[in-house]
Amino acid sequence: MSNFNQESVLSVHHWTDNLFSFRTTRDTSFRFRNGEFTMIGLKVNDKPLLRAYSVASANYEDTLEFFSIKVQDGPLTSRLQHLKEGDQIIVSRKATGTLVIDNLKSGRNLYLIGTGTGLAPFLSVIKDPETYERFEKVVLLHGCRRVAELAYGEMIQEHLPNDELIGELVREKLIYYPTVTRDPFRNRGRITDLITSGKLFGDIGLANLDASEDRVMMCGSPALLTDTKNILLDRGFIEGNHGEPGDFVVEKAFAER
Ligand SMILES: Cc1cc2nc3c(=O)[nH]c(=O)nc-3n(C[C@H](O)[C@H](O)[C@H](O)COP(=O)(O)OP(=O)(O)OC[C@H]3O[C@@H](n4cnc5c(N)ncnc54)[C@H](O)[C@@H]3O)c2cc1C
Repeated sequence: MSNFNQESVLSVHHWTDNLFSFRTTRDTSFRFRNGEFTMIGLKVNDKPLLRAYSVASANYEDTLEFFSIKVQDGPLTSRLQHLKEGDQIIVSRKATGTLVIDNLKSGRNLYLIGTGTGLAPFLSVIKDPETYERFEKVVLLHGCRRVAELAYGEMIQEHLPNDELIGELVREKLIYYPTVTRDPFRNRGRITDLITSGKLFGDIGLANLDASEDRVMMCGSPALLTDTKNILLDRGFIEGNHGEPGDFVVEKAFAER
């Protein structure tokens, strides 16, 4: 049996010149935990060209969603950005990754910190009823340069709170905090600066990060990951993984060339 499924593109949405999302069919045999990534791609000259992608849809949905960058000279995304409804993509039968809530110790508040397409794994985590069973508050931070890059804001603020399955939990527990560095906006600045200055916590009405109560998942640029990780380590947070749940878990949003 092949390690890959072929899926059909059902819809494509372009957010900006550099970001787009698409939804595909989902083979019923494809299982994943919310927050995981898989390998997806296209056949190029009869060979699979694959890259890691977080699954942005929840594991109970019957279609798959992906949130993608467009790298103009990128081997995959220079092609993938031209996807149209009805096109075929390849999706691995396996998913993996560290951004799953089972890799975290129990705690009071869960912080989901994503920059750019690093939002993608958290789109499935915030749709998971178990996330809200395990934590009192779930704070989703999305950092971008431009307001136009704050993809999914409408889904998070308008659709999810009215969702039949998890609307009530979202209304009670989810705090969405988008922030940008280069445009005027209600929240401005780098996520790490908002944490160290304490501004974030004043804005959302929660106490500053504390290893005895707070748990963190992060996915973003190498700079964000290094800086955020250092802030957490300084405050006594311990990194978790599959073998051993911890106070925080980390995943790269992309690998640098
Ligand atoms: C665990 C993991 C999960 C990932 N999940 C996603 C996802 O959900 N969505 C997504 O778009 N990409 C994701 N990526 C990145 C993805 O695998 C590819 O790198 C991306 O699709 C570009 O592919 P490419 O062949 O066009 O260019 P590549 O040759 O893969 O990348 C070229 C360069 O572009 C830059 N780059 C690549 N991806 C990004 C990105 N997402 N944001 C900013 N700069 C980037 C990097 O500098 C990289 O070196 C993930 C990577 C990893 C390791």
